[in-house]
Amino acid sequence: MTTTAAPATAPFRFFDVHVVRTRRVSPSVVRVTFGGERLDALASGGRDQRFKLFLPQPHQDRPVFEDTSDGWYTTWRAQDPAERPLMRSYTIREKRCHSGEFDVDFALHGAGHGTAAGGPAARWAAGARPGDRLTVLAPVVEDNGGVDFRPPTGTDWILLTGDETALPAIAGILSWLSPGTRAKVWIEIAHEDDRQPLPTFADADITWLVRDGDPGRLPAALRTAELPEGTPYAWIAGEAGTVKAVRRHLVRDRGIDRRAVKFTGYWRRGATEEDLLAELTAGTAPADGED
Ligand SMILES: Cc1cc2nc3c(=O)[nH]c(=O)nc-3n(C[C@H](O)[C@H](O)[C@H](O)COP(=O)(O)OP(=O)(O)OC[C@H]3O[C@@H](n4cnc5c(N)ncnc54)[C@H](O)[C@@H]3O)c2cc1C
Repeated sequence: MTTTAAPATAPFRFFDVHVVRTRRVSPSVVRVTFGGERLDALASGGRDQRFKLFLPQPHQDRPVFEDTSDGWYTTWRAQDPAERPLMRSYTIREKRCHSGEFDVDFALHGAGHGTAAGGPAARWAAGARPGDRLTVLAPVVEDNGGVDFRPPTGTDWILLTGDETALPAIAGILSWLSPGTRAKVWIEIAHEDDRQPLPTFADADITWLVRDGDPGRLPAALRTAELPEGTPYAWIAGEAGTVKAVRRHLVRDRGIDRRAVKFTGYWRRGATEEDLLAELTAGTAPADGED
């Protein structure tokens, strides 16, 4: 069984990056490979390594920051919303040390068909071309506070659920698990062809659920699933409502210790990331932790 060191909060740093290439890995996902100067200093802890990505406004050819020192957040918030870079959260799908490049898998959620659908990040990814410039705020040491998947010692088996937005993290977690670790995995996707190979040494049982317009597939599948004996550690991510339903089921109906359930709403139906940030700042975000 894999064990982990205590969580650490380590420095993150701004990096200017550019698109090296893009590849449509499935109908709903485009993989963007980033390169840039100094990228050998960017570190990834693997698993669900999160980072912040900053997009330019439509009239800009790169994100315009007034301040990238430690106090950047206050300055960024005070910047004219029409000028300040758009901030989004993503996962490092893979970092390659030899080239310094890293990959990010973007769920397109409707973007890319010449419509105004999706959000700014999805639309940016759908139209990304080599040379396009972004800024990222990413870790510079492997053991950093942007990794949430940390099963405690004594865990017997792992439960993972998520949608296309959590697929990069699930891929990272599966490739990190020790040989023979028992894992039960449910992944909700939009199309049959959104399945991806997920290399792992773990003893993983992976169920793909094609949404077919029904966002309740994942909780329903969990409710009828046979779960292994022993002490689980669960990691749940994806749409906030689905995450909440799955967590409730695991804690209330299955009696899993709430401390062994790591859950994160990666997005919420009808809310942009700006809306979610505004709720957090105003202290009006729904209490995800209640069950
Ligand atoms: C820690 C973390 C890691 C993440 N990692 C990834 C990742 O690696 N890859 C990835 O694709 N996403 C990832 N996400 C989710 C991503 O940040 C959101 O989907 C984000 O809202 C996309 O920004 P946008 O500009 O495209 O849409 P926004 O402007 O934020 O939203 C526009 C509209 O689209 C809706 N929406 C947003 N995402 C989706 C979706 N997936 N399906 C359907 N509707 C949606 C919103 O509800 C809103 O109505 C992650 C989120 C977090 C918190």
